[in-house]
Amino acid sequence: MKIHEYQGKEILRQFGVPVPRGYPAFTGQEAVEAAQKLGGPVWVVKAQIHAGGRGKGGGVKLGKSLDEVKALSGQILGMQLKTHQTGPEGQKVRRLYIEEGADIKKEYYVSLVTDRATQKVALIASSEGGMDIEEVAHSTPEKIITEVIDPLAGLGDAQAKKIAAAIGLPEGSHAQAVTLLQNLYRCYMETDASLVEINPLNCDSKGNLIALDAKFNFDANALFRHPEIVAYRDLDEEDPAEIEASKFDLAYIQLDGNIGCLVNGAGLAMATMDTIKLFGGEPANFLDVGGGATAEKVTEAFKIMLKNPEVKAILVNIFGGIMRCDTIADGVVTASRAVGLKVPLVVRMKGTNEDLGKKILADSGLPIIAADTMAEAATKVVAAVA
Ligand code: ADP
Ligand code: MG
Repeated sequence: MKIHEYQGKEILRQFGVPVPRGYPAFTGQEAVEAAQKLGGPVWVVKAQIHAGGRGKGGGVKLGKSLDEVKALSGQILGMQLKTHQTGPEGQKVRRLYIEEGADIKKEYYVSLVTDRATQKVALIASSEGGMDIEEVAHSTPEKIITEVIDPLAGLGDAQAKKIAAAIGLPEGSHAQAVTLLQNLYRCYMETDASLVEINPLNCDSKGNLIALDAKFNFDANALFRHPEIVAYRDLDEEDPAEIEASKFDLAYIQLDGNIGCLVNGAGLAMATMDTIKLFGGEPANFLDVGGGATAEKVTEAFKIMLKNPEVKAILVNIFGGIMRCDTIADGVVTASRAVGLKVPLVVRMKGTNEDLGKKILADSGLPIIAADTMAEAATKVVAAVA
């Protein structure tokens, strides 16, 4: 789960990581009030969307008077902000963050991520903070340092100091950096984050460190123990079909192709998409109905898939284990009738009660195309959209 920058900064503040003063604003009026409370002389008006690269896209602007803050807020609120992370259609700006302007001397980069290769948390840092860390990683990878943190020892003073020195922070700021990095690590662990990124971490002309941006991702599997983080969820930033799917406990991700897939189990869903591609087709979605799919759940899954106008055929691929094939067959028949299915439907099922399931499909009188193997199913569904 992702959150907005201003929410991320609230969390950083709680963990003792220094951030500028600021207030969120949902209207131009609130933006001006926020600026008045902060007092100036320089404010930064920042678009709040769940994507980085806002500065380059025109979503972060400096204002030097209340009138300027008002004008900039009017420009940014409601704009369709396009960045390298939003996709070509951009994302509509519905919230702003009004922050005091910082005295920027040099911008650094710091992030923490879970590194699957070492099974540890990795701290990534660079002297080259600012807007383009991807470019730094590509053209001057030696300017990015990575330190893995021992989960038992945590981030000790020596390791934190080594990082501060490696990215060239001035000597006088090392003690501050050690505390900041240790607090950031504690924040990462205690919130069950999967990414925390501060880009830029500013060092001002007095040598004081302050986080000017904050990006968080949280491990969805740990959200049950963080109601305070779930409360930050902003549904405007999420795909409507994916929100609908999550209500029914369906794992759904929309893709660019035209073959809808309904599968039980994430591994089988991945394999099904691969097989479709192998036979020259393009999946329209990933959809895992899980282990306990009922007829109702299958109906909802069909509805969600068919809301995507690109879907020209559907492939149902089921492995009956605990989930019996006849249950799924009932679900498929009910769902096809309920939604008045108009696109070709290919069904492959294997496993528990397979024969019973096939009989239900055959007896339904619906024009369902049966397939026995994955290759046959993929061939038939690709032919159906051709
Ligand atoms: P993004 O990464 O989405 O472009 P940032 O929050 O990093 O957004 O802002 C982009 C740039 O704007 C920063 O690299 C920094 O130079 C400048 N900036 C951001 N916040 C402030 C601030 N409070 N004061 C001064 N400059 C800022
Ligand atoms: Mg940034």
